[in-house]
Amino acid sequence: MVERVLLAEPRGFCAGVEMAIKALTWMVRVFDPPVYCYHEIVHNRWVVQTFEKVGVVFVDDIDEVPEGAPVMLSAHGSAPDVVERAGSRAAVVIDAVCPLVTKVHHEVRRMAAKGFEILYVGHEGHDEAVGTVAVAPEAITLVEPSDRLDGFDPAEGTPVALVAQTTLGVYEWESVLDEARRRFPDLWTPRRGDLCYATTNRQSAVQELARRCDLVLVVGSESSSNTQALVRVAAEAGASARRIDAAADIAEEWLRGAEVVGVTAGASAPDHLVQEVIDRLAPRAGVEVLSVTSEDEYFPLPPQLRAFVSVLQHLVEASVTARALGRPGRLEGDREWSATEALASLRS
Ligand code: SF4
Repeated sequence: MVERVLLAEPRGFCAGVEMAIKALTWMVRVFDPPVYCYHEIVHNRWVVQTFEKVGVVFVDDIDEVPEGAPVMLSAHGSAPDVVERAGSRAAVVIDAVCPLVTKVHHEVRRMAAKGFEILYVGHEGHDEAVGTVAVAPEAITLVEPSDRLDGFDPAEGTPVALVAQTTLGVYEWESVLDEARRRFPDLWTPRRGDLCYATTNRQSAVQELARRCDLVLVVGSESSSNTQALVRVAAEAGASARRIDAAADIAEEWLRGAEVVGVTAGASAPDHLVQEVIDRLAPRAGVEVLSVTSEDEYFPLPPQLRAFVSVLQHLVEASVTARALGRPGRLEGDREWSATEALASLRS
């Protein structure tokens, strides 16, 4: 029997995921289906299925988007040639890349132009890593966070830069950074680092959970890099940690002897799934929120989307025939409208 649940704060949706979900909801409201999305809009099974039910088709090859169809590019950031090809075949292209991923793309472009060899710490095959490496493939070497740098041997005298996928484990990044600094005393790294605020905040919270809980449950999908990092960070801090997509994934034997259970969620996991986990655990002494910091980051909708919807609104107001926009939230009041409400509006 679970005595108490410790609930991590912050957890779940970050500003990039909020923006991407609301942007795709606008696309669904404005266009007749199908609306295409290059890669999963965010890496969460429930969110992806919700959009599929209202006519979004997710593709892993931009050439699968029919000529003239509307397309959204996912929050993880797309390779430059994907953005270009999308622009040449789609009627409307909205890029929902998170601004914090765009920042890493800028760093890669800038350092490659200056003649640096770039070490990129990330996960081979992850959408964000694929998009970032493609910014300057001739100058960049991907290193898995668990790897040593032994295989990286830049040409004599070539300056070295170290950048990272935004969702790594902090301890993993620090270990690579230490080694890189030892080997390359003039190493360039971005002043504020590439691991995003949502990644570091959620990991700080899960470390606290790990110290105080018998078991830590992390709600999020297998493809979610920051979710997987939360599981590794909790395990590194000494807890028994499990990733689950939803309450139904909890195995009875995990709970044997687990009096205090910690619960958190990756940056793309909706909060109602967390609530269902708590309901399933039914803690006898209730839920205690363990807060390490508060967040108020907000990323505006992609500029292409704002411009496009404004034009449509003017056309509708001028009584020109156009598809009614529905009520996905107000463009001007976007801050007051959440991704949770957007998803709820799709299911109603
Ligand atoms: S996890 Fe970080 S980088 Fe990824 S979408 Fe969220 S804020 Fe952006």
